[in-house]
Amino acid sequence: RIVVAGSANMDLVGVAERLPLPGETVLGDDFLMMAGGKGANQAIAAARAGGDAVFLGAIGSDSFGVTLNARLAAAGVDTAHVRTTYGASGVAVIMVDRAAENSILVAPGANSTFRDLTEAEEGVIASGDVLLCQLEIPIETVTAACRAARAAGTRTILNAAPARELPADLLANVDLLVVNEVEAQTITGSAAPDMAALLALVPRVVMTLGGAGSRYAERDGRDEQVPAFPVEATDTTAAGDAFTAALAVAWGEGRDLMEAVRWANAAGAACVRKLGASSSVPTRAEIDELYNG
Ligand code: ADP
Repeated sequence: RIVVAGSANMDLVGVAERLPLPGETVLGDDFLMMAGGKGANQAIAAARAGGDAVFLGAIGSDSFGVTLNARLAAAGVDTAHVRTTYGASGVAVIMVDRAAENSILVAPGANSTFRDLTEAEEGVIASGDVLLCQLEIPIETVTAACRAARAAGTRTILNAAPARELPADLLANVDLLVVNEVEAQTITGSAAPDMAALLALVPRVVMTLGGAGSRYAERDGRDEQVPAFPVEATDTTAAGDAFTAALAVAWGEGRDLMEAVRWANAAGAACVRKLGASSSVPTRAEIDELYNG
């Protein structure tokens, strides 16, 4: 069982020839609404990758909250413990132009009310094989979730996105850190990704390298480059979420981490092959097909 504790947003996406300047109105030509937020994205991706996924998070009492719950459930995510808090759901207002350049405003809404884990939520975390967190909810909640997991023997994965520095009491309860190169630099405060510095903070690190695949390293142990699956990249949106979720699913199934990273590379590659965010997140069959060649 994979427990994902994190954010859920309604992504409101408007597409236009070009992005409006400050004070300007531009007539757009397309609009769509999707479930988003790294927490919800990774929970949905974990379910599609064949994981028994549970989502812990907070959504608002507005109509977006109803839609978000429904989209999570439709993807096969267990939403029984999702909080509904009075007020607005998290929303991302996204403007995209023809060249795929974007401007994004995130209003966290209910996500910022996700504080003070309940006994029931801690029970869910304790029931998991793996806890997966990101950084779009209050950092104290991420810390408390990882602490509860550690106490219960649930392994913890922190996908440290979006990039920020991390407090020591969080790092102390992270079993596996998943970062891209920018996040790695932010965490260690160095000008280039520094694996040794990361391994001084956590016992295992996976660094995603885009089209170059990823790198897996453990303290006093293996440090290996894991090549990407060669695919034609159409759209890299959600590749990181698909990768991280697949990694959590594979590790939760007890697969060796090197093998789990290779399988996650297949999930990331399967995702960039297709256009779209949540719709491009691969199923287990699609991941296996690429993985097995
Ligand atoms: P993030 O969005 O977090 O920076 P990446 O862009 O590094 O994440 O993508 C995550 C993973 O997806 C990579 O580690 C890799 O396995 C896979 N991936 C990304 N881009 C490509 C690509 N062009 N070809 C093949 N695999 C890719």
